[in-house]
Amino acid sequence: MVPTDNFAFLLPVIMLTFGCTFLIVGHWGSRQARIWGTGYLSAAAAFSVPLVLSWLPVQAQTLTADALFIATFYFFGGALLARFRRPSLIAPRIALAIAAFASNLYSVIVAHSLPAELLVNDLACVVLLGLPVVICFGQSQHARDRLLLAVASAVVLDTIVRDTILIVLLPSPTGIEGFTSSSYDFYMQVGASILGLLMALTALAAVALDTIAIYRDAADRDHLSGLLNRRGFDRAAAELRHRGKTGAIIICDIDHFKRVNDKFGHAMGDRVILALAGLLRERLPADALAARFGGEEFVIFLPAASLAQAGDLANAIRLAFAGVERGEIGPNHKITASFGVAAAESGDAAIADQIGRADSALYAAKEAGRNRVMVAGEPPQEATMPRIVGGR
Ligand code: GH3
Ligand code: MG
Ligand code: MG
Repeated sequence: MVPTDNFAFLLPVIMLTFGCTFLIVGHWGSRQARIWGTGYLSAAAAFSVPLVLSWLPVQAQTLTADALFIATFYFFGGALLARFRRPSLIAPRIALAIAAFASNLYSVIVAHSLPAELLVNDLACVVLLGLPVVICFGQSQHARDRLLLAVASAVVLDTIVRDTILIVLLPSPTGIEGFTSSSYDFYMQVGASILGLLMALTALAAVALDTIAIYRDAADRDHLSGLLNRRGFDRAAAELRHRGKTGAIIICDIDHFKRVNDKFGHAMGDRVILALAGLLRERLPADALAARFGGEEFVIFLPAASLAQAGDLANAIRLAFAGVERGEIGPNHKITASFGVAAAESGDAAIADQIGRADSALYAAKEAGRNRVMVAGEPPQEATMPRIVGGR
């Protein structure tokens, strides 16, 4: 007995399960998952043809399965292009699919050639998936992207190798009747089971990891400023410290902010917070972590900076912030901020110790009259740079 029969029920069920799973995930908002889902449902339908449409003439069954396989690979390719944010190339891909099916019709109805039909169909599938793989190649960012492209490449290679060996090199099956019991059919189903399963698992894992990354990022960010929140800062700073990066901490707090809120309203206060957050984003080096710890207080971690460099940077930000004319707001139409800077010390158990020293320096800056940068120490020292007048 041909082992093919073992797969007969398994494949449609596997493909149907994945199709439904992807569609459920897609329902939560992932377009890519919806395309994978459509592809896997189409694959389930294609593998069901011999079971469900066995009453049709064999030619009709073959052509129906061909059309469904072409559709499957059209959707798989589309899912890859969507995942990697490449142009969807709908028109050329549909044109290719139609041309392939027209060639299938010719091979089956006019030429009565099974090898030609198999070759045309597989070639279409190879191009419909292989082309997106090539287009997406340089775009992979994460390990999950590279794994997905590797599995998709394996699907393409499997088809090419199978066709080369079974259709081109070995004697072809004698007629369409021979197809279902041929080695081609057996190897095709083995390949489809293993690689189809692998591709579905990889794509599903990639979509799930994307979703987790989106929610994790949202949980780590401050809604108003878009900077990290305390939780995100603690997590990212702990990772950097784990890799031996200590550097300097800057804490910054807007001066007399309560007055801004009281006199000009909370919305104006929010705009001032956003202005300082924008300035931090603009001025800080790419490796810096910037967080809003709440209210009008910001904490910055500079993993590669010395205390002196951090003091200079804090002073540059202070001058830029204080230098902005703000219409009717603030004394002299200016709003200022105070800064505390601290370096890591060998006895620090966690970054919180360093933040504590920067906070003491910030307190000293407030005590000394605000609108200045103080460097942690016993006692804290003012970082040397000219101050903008008008900080009260
Ligand atoms: P100091 O110079 O000593 O820092 O004085 P301050 O008035 O800035 O300090 P204080 O900590 O007393 O006031 C902070 C104010 O920030 C109190 C609160 O109403 C306001 N605040 C906290 N979170 C937000 C926010 O998200 N938006 C706005 N607009 N205001 C906020
Ligand atoms: Mg304040
Ligand atoms: Mg404050």
